[in-house]
Amino acid sequence: MTVRVRIAPSPTGNLHIGTARTAVFNWLFARHTGGKFILRIEDTDLERSRPEFTQNILDGLTWLGLTWDEGPFFQSQRMDLYQQKIQALLDQGLAYRAYDTPEELDAMREAQKARGEAPRYDNRHRNLTPEQCAACEAEGRTAVIRFRIDDDREITWNDLVRGKVVWKGRDLGGDMVIARAASGNDIGQPLYNFVVVVDDIDMQITHVVRGEDHIGNTPKQILLYEALAAKVPEFGHTPLILNQAGAKLSKRDGVTSISDFQQMGYLAAAIANYMTLLGWSPTEEMSEIFTLDEAATHFNFDRVNKAGAKFDWDKLNWLNSQYLHPMPASTLTDLLIPYWQAAGYDCDWQGDRPWLEQISALIGPSLTRLDEAVAMTRYLFISDVGFTEDATKKLKQEGSAEIVRAIAIAIPDHQPLTETTAQALLKQVAKDLSRKEGQLKPILRVALTGDTKGPDLLQSWLLLHHRGWDTTRLQAALEITK
Ligand code: GLU
Repeated sequence: MTVRVRIAPSPTGNLHIGTARTAVFNWLFARHTGGKFILRIEDTDLERSRPEFTQNILDGLTWLGLTWDEGPFFQSQRMDLYQQKIQALLDQGLAYRAYDTPEELDAMREAQKARGEAPRYDNRHRNLTPEQCAACEAEGRTAVIRFRIDDDREITWNDLVRGKVVWKGRDLGGDMVIARAASGNDIGQPLYNFVVVVDDIDMQITHVVRGEDHIGNTPKQILLYEALAAKVPEFGHTPLILNQAGAKLSKRDGVTSISDFQQMGYLAAAIANYMTLLGWSPTEEMSEIFTLDEAATHFNFDRVNKAGAKFDWDKLNWLNSQYLHPMPASTLTDLLIPYWQAAGYDCDWQGDRPWLEQISALIGPSLTRLDEAVAMTRYLFISDVGFTEDATKKLKQEGSAEIVRAIAIAIPDHQPLTETTAQALLKQVAKDLSRKEGQLKPILRVALTGDTKGPDLLQSWLLLHHRGWDTTRLQAALEITK
């Protein structure tokens, strides 16, 4: 048997981290088993589905490296198939039209509540005669299509993650609506639980792996498989991603979509790695840092945790920096250019790629996220960078002017500066002023960079000198010292 799994996002929002993590587990399982990973866009909710969300989902999966083998298939293009299947269930008497009005349903639920019962549909239209149906239609009532659920059924499956799961038919809320707004012969708009089963059968899905929030749908879907005379696939319900308070991670927690993480400067490899760790324990021979391909070699559901996984920013930041720190300057430069450009920094100055790569080499080892590079390197891209309050204070200290002036005079005009010559220059100035080099450096830093802290001083100086900005900065600093 070839494993066939799928990810079936609804394009009613950007690609959510929970959906992406489910995609990761499906992808890993498909790659581990040599199976197929299928992408299906569940866009039957026409009001809330939007093409830009579909695009965001496709882009996000691609960015993460979750390549799909078939699809994307769109449910909105498959309505004929759903209609046929609903008709088949109607013809067999396994589904029926129910004509209850919203007011009647409300009254029914209120009465159940008053009796201390759980609200459910009491199947009152299960056995309407054709005449009764015609009368309802004549009254102008719209129908829903309901699928019969036997209260006495017990539904069991062996969940890939959770082991044996048992549900009672009576706990499924009565006969289930599988299509709404049906009128006359039109079977209306088919709903999630039904279309998902029709598609999973049609696409020969062997393992349905999805978030734990779908566990209550599974018994209903198993009954639909049986009604449609199809083989029931394996099911696996993966733990939810939780916020620090232990609740399901939601929009209220701020960042939740993959494109947000991308914009914030997390690397696809780090996010994919982190999502895998959220709910899956790597094998003993693996480190915590791994590619999706490596994880695929070892992946199985035995190591997927049952308990929800708390989202941990510190851990994600740590992982991201593990990917960033050893990154070659050239690769890092390619990743940083869009951030610099978005900040309005000129990355084409004299086509000087080596200069950019030196900047990347300078800051790479201290980056946690790509977007931090913008603030960190501002003094290298913006000529009139200004002076922070602390920097100004330092420049106004007694003796600062003398140091700044002496260094400014010593800087060679129109000549390159190397680490050795810069060091020698500092040594000489220190000697001339009868000071220690250690006294000069903090003053030189604030004068050159406008701030009391930042990346390595000598390297920063060389980079600024390359653009001829060190002397102008020192002149500006001298003005402050007055
Ligand atoms: N469209 C559903 C969702 O986004 C898919 C659920 C499933 O995998 O069956 O949650």
